[in-house]
Amino acid sequence: LSVSARTVRTEDGEFAGAALAYTDVTDFMRALQVKDEFVALVSHELRTPLTSIVGYVQLLEEDDTMPPHAVEQLRVVHRNAERLRRLIGDLLDTAQRDGSPMPITRTQADLAGIVVDSVEAARPVADSAGIDLVLSSPERLPVRMDAQRIAQVVDNLVSNAIKYTEPGGRVTVQLGTDLDWVEIQVADTGIGIAPDDCERLFTRFFRTEDAARRAVAGAGLGLSITKDIVESHGGRIDVDSAVGQGSVFRVRMPR
Ligand code: ADP
Repeated sequence: LSVSARTVRTEDGEFAGAALAYTDVTDFMRALQVKDEFVALVSHELRTPLTSIVGYVQLLEEDDTMPPHAVEQLRVVHRNAERLRRLIGDLLDTAQRDGSPMPITRTQADLAGIVVDSVEAARPVADSAGIDLVLSSPERLPVRMDAQRIAQVVDNLVSNAIKYTEPGGRVTVQLGTDLDWVEIQVADTGIGIAPDDCERLFTRFFRTEDAARRAVAGAGLGLSITKDIVESHGGRIDVDSAVGQGSVFRVRMPR
């Protein structure tokens, strides 16, 4: 049941009682559940053939007998198939959990290595967009965490910073630590985010009007999943931003 309540007052504003409305929302909740199950099922079915496509494209890319122009085209297929795979993964993550906490499996891993790998994987995209990508990180930083999920956090923040920054801009990734905490900071000189939007950034499917208008590809799921992963690690994420000047995303987690 969904309940809404409001006070009832006389004409001169005196309290005269309260009205309660009870609505049976069983059908609505059932429809929501069916929708999530459907999205989870479809995403799962899409993932299997895509994994095979990525595998074979990779094999062809590494084939020495391939002419260079074909390898270039295969790289484009590969990049787009990876994008599709990430989107399907995000949809699956969102539908499967239905508001419950993100399950994580912690092992000891090197956070510095994860950040370096993520930045280097993004470098070709930054280069082709004319964006200067700068990294500052200690050599090694062992942390108990879900390495795959934390890699997803860094990938999301770095790829957003590149996506929402104009050519000629700069993206700076910094990894820092003190005794109890680690901090990953991703700063860009991009389009920025209005103060009202900053609060809604981490909700599912939210995209700023600016991002949608510029036709930058995205589903608005990355940051909501990013926040869930960070919070499952006992950490927090926040953002400082100014429209037209850039944004700074900061993740803090216990070591
Ligand atoms: P997506 O990028 O796929 O749309 P996200 O959940 O990662 O989804 O981000 C949600 C929205 O937040 C984006 O659509 C964009 O409007 C805004 N945003 C995220 N990162 C940045 C950034 N670095 N600079 C400006 N806007 C950003």
